[in-house]
Amino acid sequence: MPATASITQTPESQTAVRHDWKRSEIEALFALPFNDLLFQAAAIHRANFDPNAVQVSTLLSIKTGACPEDCKYCSQSGHYNTELEKEKLLEVARVVEEAKAARDKGASRFCMGAAWRSPRDRDMPFVLDMIRQVKGLGMETCMTLGMLDQGQAEALADAGLDYYNHNLDTSPEYYGKVITTRTYNDRLSTLANVRDAGMKVCCGGIVGMGEQRDDRVGLLQQLANLPHHPESVPINMLVKIEGTPLADVADLDPFEFVRTVAVARILMPESYVRLSAGRQEMNDEAQALCFMAGANSIFYGERLLTTDNPEANHDQQLFKRLGIHPLDPRHEASDEAHEEAIKAQVAEQEAEDAGLFYNAMDKRSAKHVLDKDTGRPAAAEH
Ligand code: SF4
Repeated sequence: MPATASITQTPESQTAVRHDWKRSEIEALFALPFNDLLFQAAAIHRANFDPNAVQVSTLLSIKTGACPEDCKYCSQSGHYNTELEKEKLLEVARVVEEAKAARDKGASRFCMGAAWRSPRDRDMPFVLDMIRQVKGLGMETCMTLGMLDQGQAEALADAGLDYYNHNLDTSPEYYGKVITTRTYNDRLSTLANVRDAGMKVCCGGIVGMGEQRDDRVGLLQQLANLPHHPESVPINMLVKIEGTPLADVADLDPFEFVRTVAVARILMPESYVRLSAGRQEMNDEAQALCFMAGANSIFYGERLLTTDNPEANHDQQLFKRLGIHPLDPRHEASDEAHEEAIKAQVAEQEAEDAGLFYNAMDKRSAKHVLDKDTGRPAAAEH
């Protein structure tokens, strides 16, 4: 029985980082009974991360609307009338003020997004200044500015940008049904420019756009077979916006969304899998299943920044009810010292056990600590 065979593999074989995923393997994961899929994803999550820590990012739109691209899901596209209020590039001081507010509310990474096809030369000095000043607050920085050529990617990296977000959105086959103003290859070449410049990559997609499971398989296969897995993999649920061509698309079964998160966790065991757009529309139970399936990063949207915002409070309450704590990379130094102590304890325990009573669960715990200390990317990066 294939399902049973796959969940009885050793943790080591399950957690190996691979870039050669076959379509049939990914289809088989999606087809597993729900509980088996979640069990496998949760085991891989635990082998690589603290399962009760969730990284929190905040997104600020630094330039809103009038985008020349025609992404059929997007309220910011100039091709559709969504009654969105357009805004020019924000002043640097305003961006820094918003970043400070986000930091004070527990966000460790500040993401800045501009509705551009690609940044113009005249905008670059402002964007670079934003990066430097937000970094100066002790936060990680991420930007999403559209397509980048090599020179632009290098300039952003030189200013200290940690992450660049550029989503693949969907499978190569379905892409043309969602966007026609740029190609899948355009996306891939921006991702290559970002990597070559030495930045980390935030790259995922959107589900619930009327695509089939085959397309979700295709999207995850593309992401997992990139030369390096993206460090962050946002899995978005379509938010239907009045005025866009996808406003009336049929709802996706929430369990299929959870399955997509779980398969992403299995294919990219060391990446942060992020719940972003669409999370606010999910109920608490669906979000809890996503955390169990391996999601370990969320967005607080920019509208959640004010202190008395009930939705922000709701997120905090949900974390409390689930026993989840926010991950803060600013505290990594003390965590590393703590892990050194754990490592010493694990080594001592291993010597005592001398292999005789060394069960699979102990082995997995030891691997988690050792992997972090040898600097494997996902475990050590945040
Ligand atoms: S490029 Fe970005 S901002 Fe522009 S329409 Fe597409 S998703 Fe929206």
